Amino acid sequence: MMDSGTTLIDGFGRTIDYVRLSVTDRCDFRCTYCMAEDMTFLPRSDVLSLEEITRVARVFVGLGVRKLRVTGGEPLVRRGVETLLANLGQLDALRELAITTNGSQLQSKAPLLKSAGVTSLNISLDTLSDAKFSAITRTGRLSQVLAGIDAAVAADFKRIRLNAVILAGQNDDEVVDLTEFALARGIDIALIEEMPLGQVNAAGKPLEFVSSDVILAQLQRHFDLLPTQAPAQSGPARYWHIDGSRTRVGLISPHSNNFCHSCNRLRVTAEGRLLLCLGNEHSISLRDSLRAGASDHELATQIRAALSRKPERHVFDQPDEPQILRFMNASGG
Ligand code: SAM
Ligand code: SF4
Repeated sequence: MMDSGTTLIDGFGRTIDYVRLSVTDRCDFRCTYCMAEDMTFLPRSDVLSLEEITRVARVFVGLGVRKLRVTGGEPLVRRGVETLLANLGQLDALRELAITTNGSQLQSKAPLLKSAGVTSLNISLDTLSDAKFSAITRTGRLSQVLAGIDAAVAADFKRIRLNAVILAGQNDDEVVDLTEFALARGIDIALIEEMPLGQVNAAGKPLEFVSSDVILAQLQRHFDLLPTQAPAQSGPARYWHIDGSRTRVGLISPHSNNFCHSCNRLRVTAEGRLLLCLGNEHSISLRDSLRAGASDHELATQIRAALSRKPERHVFDQPDEPQILRFMNASGG
């Protein structure tokens, strides 16, 4: 029996209607800010099966979740992901089915994703330089991703957003060029502060990041930016419209804590851990329950109980001490 409740509310009165599902920890790229060069991935038996992911998604939608984002690792390298997406696309009450992808597989897969019911795509693109792209992703090819972006634009999704992580001394001189690239295609772009995931410099200090305020100042010198009313689900993003265009520019600032009060999301890792907050280690294993034969009702009850442990805020700003020791691919950034 499905849980009869229709909304998920945490201990601080926040309604949770958005879940990010990591469908794999594997990836064909090795972005320097996300993974080590030499990664050991989870044994396949530890990763939720496509049927298990579909069940978890169905329980969440039964609990009032209206937006699912499929991510990873690189979700489009998971075998059978198109079938998973088509199954998620059938969930009646779902309003938005989104994917975050590095774009490497989009040239062939964009039309399939559209017909599976995917409504929006976030595509990562940190640079327009071949050499920098190779340096940042270690194994990626820029031309392949650019062809993927063209295919996605042609497939006409409701919304496409580029994600660019801005790295001091690497691509912080490309903020305007990347935004022009999005503008020319009528799509959105988010410029993201790098999050401290445990990397430190030789002196043991967290690596430097480029703050959203610095990025905004660069943008304002080149574009007429109109502030927009933050959509309810914008989370850590603040959005501006480029005047006279359809393009929105988002600045994502995980270093500023002030979005936690409106946090509406949960994450499920590839191995089925429900993470209550990206910045904390609070989690429960949905996989253990699934594999112990829990019913949908029992899973829903477990999720509701876990929510009372969702922290009020995250703590990335502790000086000198990166709080997050998980790699991003494992937590479903
Ligand atoms: N592989 C897909 C991709 O790259 O879009 C989906 C997974 S990736 C972990 C999701 C997003 O997290 C990407 O936009 C990536 O740039 C971002 N990301 C990864 N590590 C990050 C970090 N340390 N700080 C900020 N963003 C990060
Ligand atoms: Fe792969 Fe995405 Fe992480 Fe890059 S950011 S290594 S593409 S999961």
